Order: sequence, then C-alpha cells, then structure tokens
Amino acid sequence: MGWGGGFGGGGGMFGGSASAASGRAGLPFGGIPSELMDEATKLLASEPEHPKSNVHFTQRPSEKERERLTLPNLIKVYPKWVVSGSLLVIITALTLQAGPLLTEFAIKNGMEPGHRDLKVIAACAIIYLVLALVSVYFQRLQVDVTGKLSSRVMHDLRIRVFTHFQRLSLDFFTDEKAGVLMSRMTSDVENLQQLVQDGISQFALQGLTMIVITVILFKTNVELAAWTVLLIVPLLFVFTVWFHQASEKGYLLARDRIALVLADLSESLYGIRVVTANNRQKRNIRNHRHVVGAYRDANIYTGRVNAIYGPSTLMIGILGQALLLGIGGRMVLDHQLNIAYLIAFFLYLNRFFAPIQLLVQQYNSLQQGRSSIIRLRELLEIPPTVDEIANAVTLPAIEGRITFENVSFGYNPDTLVLHDVNLVIEPGESVAFVGPTGAGKSTMAKLANRFYDPTSGRVLVDGIDVRTVTLRSLRSQLGVVPQEPFLFAGSIRTNLRFGDLDATDEDIETAIDVVGLRELVDRLPDGLDTPVHERGQTLSAGERQQLALARAFLARPRVLILDEATSSLDLRSETVIERALDRLLEGRSAILIAHRLTTAQRADRIVVIDDGGIVEMGTPRELLKLGGAYATMYDAWLASGGRDATRAGA
Ligand code: ADP
Repeated sequence: MGWGGGFGGGGGMFGGSASAASGRAGLPFGGIPSELMDEATKLLASEPEHPKSNVHFTQRPSEKERERLTLPNLIKVYPKWVVSGSLLVIITALTLQAGPLLTEFAIKNGMEPGHRDLKVIAACAIIYLVLALVSVYFQRLQVDVTGKLSSRVMHDLRIRVFTHFQRLSLDFFTDEKAGVLMSRMTSDVENLQQLVQDGISQFALQGLTMIVITVILFKTNVELAAWTVLLIVPLLFVFTVWFHQASEKGYLLARDRIALVLADLSESLYGIRVVTANNRQKRNIRNHRHVVGAYRDANIYTGRVNAIYGPSTLMIGILGQALLLGIGGRMVLDHQLNIAYLIAFFLYLNRFFAPIQLLVQQYNSLQQGRSSIIRLRELLEIPPTVDEIANAVTLPAIEGRITFENVSFGYNPDTLVLHDVNLVIEPGESVAFVGPTGAGKSTMAKLANRFYDPTSGRVLVDGIDVRTVTLRSLRSQLGVVPQEPFLFAGSIRTNLRFGDLDATDEDIETAIDVVGLRELVDRLPDGLDTPVHERGQTLSAGERQQLALARAFLARPRVLILDEATSSLDLRSETVIERALDRLLEGRSAILIAHRLTTAQRADRIVVIDDGGIVEMGTPRELLKLGGAYATMYDAWLASGGRDATRAGA
C-alpha cells in the first residue's frame, strides 16, 4: 500500500518475459532473434534457482535481532569458517617461515667441514620447495574461506539493516537523508566486508609472522636477536607509522584538490559562453592556475614523503645488516655463534619488513571497519518511534469506527500542529477533510493508521486504542491511497498485487474494471504484464491514481484513507476516478482528504480543519446552509471554475 505502509513482497517480478526485462531497462523491445533463442534458453536454464524464502517479519525484533552489533557477534554465526580460517592463517604463517631454518640446517649439516653431505642439502631443498607449495595452497584456501565468511556476514548484515529500515517509523525517513542511509548500506558495509575478508586475516597473518620470526631468532641466539628485534624493528615500525600518516594526509589533500580542479574545469567549460561574453578569460586562467597549483603542491608533498620513506627503509635494512655483520661476525670469531645461524639471521631480517608495512596498512582498514561498525550499530539501535507494545494484541475484524479523542500532535513536540481534536467517524461513513494547505488534514490521517502517535489524547478504532494492537493487524484493515502513489519496478500486475499478495488473476481483472483502467490495459502491448517504468513516469497522473485505487480495492480494507491528488486531472479522468471512488467507498468508512470540492460534496460528512483544529462539521447541505467557512470556500471554488479546493479556501 502507499505511503510506505507495506513493503510486502514484490517477488515474481523477475518471472516476466524478456520483453519485461528490456522494458525495465527503458529500451524498446524487438523480441529475441531466433538465432539467439537457443542461447537465451540455455542461459535461463543455467540461472540459479532462488527458492522463495520464508521471510519472518515482526514489528518487534527477536532476541537475536536485538543483539548488539559487534564484529565477534557477526562472525560467530559461522564458527566453522572462523575456526578453519584461523587455522589456515596459523599454518600459513608457520610454513612460510621455515625457509631460513632449512637453509641454516642445510649449511650446518650439509656444508660445514666434517658435515659435507649432498643428501642433506637435497632433502632440505626439497622440503623447502614442498613447504612453499603447501603454504601457497593453504593461503589459497584461507583466502577462499575468508571470502566466503565475509560474503555471508555481509549478506546477513545487509538484511539486518534493511529489516531495521522496515521497522522504523515515518519520522526517521523524513529526518534522515536518503543519501546518508544509502552510504551506510554501501560504503560502511563495504568497509566491513574489506575488514572481514582481508583486514583481520592479514593482520593476524602478519602479526603471527612477526611473532614466529621473533621466537625463532631468540631461540637461535638471544644477544643477536635482541639487537635485531629491539633496535631495527622499533625503528622500522615508528618510521612506517609516520609514513602512513603523512602519505594518508597527502592523498586526502590531493583528492580534495583534484576535486576543486575538476569543478573549476567543468564550470569553465560549461560556462564558456558567459566567460567569453564577459571577457573573463584572464581571470579564469588565474583562478585555474591557483587550483591547479594547489593540486601540484599536494602531489609534491606526497612525492616528498615517498622519497623519504623508500630510501630510508632501505637504509634501516642496510643498517641492520651491517649491525648483524659486525656483531654477529665477532660472535662467530669468538665461537659464540655458528655461521649458519648468522645467515639465517640475515634471511629473517629481511622478512620483518613486509609484515610491518602490511600491519600498519591493515591497521588503517581496521580503524575504518571499526568506525563503520559503530555507525551501523548506532543506526540499528535507533528505536522506531511508533512501536508495538510488548503484549500488543491482534486487532479483530473491525466495523470501522474511528475516534479521535482529545488529540493533540506536533511533529516536533514543541510546536503542535493539531490542538485537542475530537471526532468520531461512524462505521461505513465517509468523511471529507477540507481546509487550507498546512491545516493538518494529512496529519489527522497519519494518526489514524499510526504513522505517528498523538502527543496527547487517543486514537481509537472500534473503541480500541491503536497503540495497543499490532501494527500489522491495524494497517491491514486501514487502506491508504496516497496523493502521489508510489509504483515499484515491475509490471502493472505486480504493482497491483501489492494490495493483496494472494489476489487471483480474476480479482486483478475485476479491480482493473472497477477503477476504469480496462481501456489502458487493453491498449498496452503486454497488458497487465507491461512494466511500469521508473516510478510510473510513463503513466499519466490520473492513471497512477487509478492504479492506487485498484490496489486499495484489492486490499479490501475496512477503512479507506484517501489523500486526493492535488494536481488537477482532466475532466474525463476525474469522472472515471470519481466513479471508481464511489465503488470503493461502498460500505466502508473513509477519510477523504479532499482537494476538489466535488469529492467533498459526495462525502457523508464534511469536517473543515483550520490551523490544527476542527472549525466546522456537518453534511455538505448543512454546511452550505450554515454559510460559514465551508460555504465561503465553496463559493470561491465555484467562482474559480472548480479548481483546487485548498487554494480556493486559502
Ligand atoms: P494539510 O494536509 O492540511 O495540507 P499537513 O497535515 O500536511 O497539512 O501539515 C500540517 C502542518 O504540519 C504543516 O504546518 C506542515 O508544515 C507540518 N508538517 C507536515 N509534515 C511534517 C513533518 N514530517 N515534519 C514536520 N512538520 C510537518
């Protein structure tokens, strides 16, 4: 239903023909050429089957859905992947570091005088090779496992956030920018994906590698290990952290400044006529030189940072080697160290560099992932302002009496837009709300089906406070036809099914006849299966309203809330819609937010709302006789030739 009231299914929209697909893409469809038909059939056959999943949705989140969003909570759902991923990381870290140990063993036991043995050397070489292959294989497995883990975790997270959106109340979507929400769903989720896929495993792998190397070094020779690990590693670490921060700053600067360059460029190009006509060339060049110069400076800065880091790390490496050579060489002479160990030290020294650099780099992605998780957690922890109470009951089938009892309401509690409103709409009665724009008519309607809750007072349906029943049972009995009906991507048929997912084809045909859309459907190439383009822009305003009425007809609500379109319809559409409305209102209670007084005149009762309060109430005849606000509005409307009632009244 409209106004974002129900986001039920929408399944089946991919079941359509290829022409429907091209229609969605906005292309004219000429049919699949016969020579391609076989290929197309094959392709369709190879499409994975997505069985209809059973979606459970309740307004109140389950215990599991309320769980705090943290990385451990997210991944613990897949213990198998987490455990195997961790094991693979450990195995990879261990096997990767066996090389220098083997070299050391081969020198000691195969090359030294007295121990010359080609077999030992060959065995070491073969084991080296095998271990290298094993570690490559395990690394492949590990990437595969973390890839699977991250895809699943992100899938769950996306669904969780989306489900949360379905629970939130209207005020949230009014206050939050859609763009911001989109970025939560894209960049924040992607940051997390990056983290689970690469970040954590790389962080663990590199950290573990450093630990493994450190342990091996200390086990080999404590003194030499202390020199290497306590001098070289901190030096390299501090330097890498500096580099990372400096280059990050440089890249951000360059990114911002290139944006300015491009903005200036595009403005000058688009505005070239104005530039030429006003002789602004010189000034423009000066301006452009300024932004391009700033960009150049940012690039020079980044270049300088790189120029410092590369050669300096090389220097630290060489310093380390010199240190090892000097101290280790002396130890060899003093017979404190075997030469084979010294060589292993040399080999391990170089292996410190990559992990440190990767660790620092991954630290950044850990940070980004962390802030993304915090932002997503904040989003998930926003409670719906209109929520179900814990023991909400199902609203039984209603007769349709709507009562506003001392209702006051403000979107912002400080400024009330409705003041102490009292109104009873009897079952089967249609009531038209009329009054100037901004008077509070739509607000009254929004309170009836609980898009908002009154600030004080109560709204009752058949004498039951709407706050005590489940939202689903309430809204399924109150149908809403919004002013600008929203059409979803899909065919006319799937859009109509929105009203009732179980509607049969016959029901849909009847609805089409009732709202007067038969002629349109017959005219369309694929009839009911014709796709509606982006938000129904290919349909006229009248046709969109008719579709919304057909949806409501299918939903068969006990109470209908209709916000009439303000945009004027042509006379024919207006007649058709009025006829449709008459059918729709038969036996139903209705709130009609009437913009045309013809609609108001057909209602059983008119309620004139002004400045958040009811100023007049009665049958159309009574109000005209009364000669008050409605009568004035009516006269003005007649005089203006029957245009928009709200404007006539304002
Ligand atoms: P009507 O339907 O009679 O034209 P509304 O009920 O839409 O008037 O609006 C009543 C008042 O509430 C207006 O002053 C309007 O500006 C304000 N209003 C409507 N919607 C919102 C909203 N989502 N947030 C804040 N103020 C709103």
